[in-house]
Amino acid sequence: MQPWMIIAFILICGGASAAIANGKNRSAAGFFLLGALFPLIGLIVALLISPGHPVPKGMRKVTCPRCGTHQNIGASDSEYECWQCKQTSETTPLANR
Ligand SMILES: [Zn+2]
Repeated sequence: MQPWMIIAFILICGGASAAIANGKNRSAAGFFLLGALFPLIGLIVALLISPGHPVPKGMRKVTCPRCGTHQNIGASDSEYECWQCKQTSETTPLANR
């Protein structure tokens, strides 16, 4: 097998895993790495994993710096209170598109 075939196989498996994961609201970059490092395993995991929760329109996902909880806040919010630990955190609002 030629080296370029191995590289092409890795990129195809990574890309396919990323595309499947992205369609399920999962991390495309994370699944690209998983699919590239473990080609068939990454692809199988991407196919079997349950869909993630979509972020509602006009909102975005943030991670609390204190407890690591994920939550959705308004896209233009510059401050939010964590629902888990009640810590108020500042964040950079997304630029208006
Ligand atoms: Zn928290």
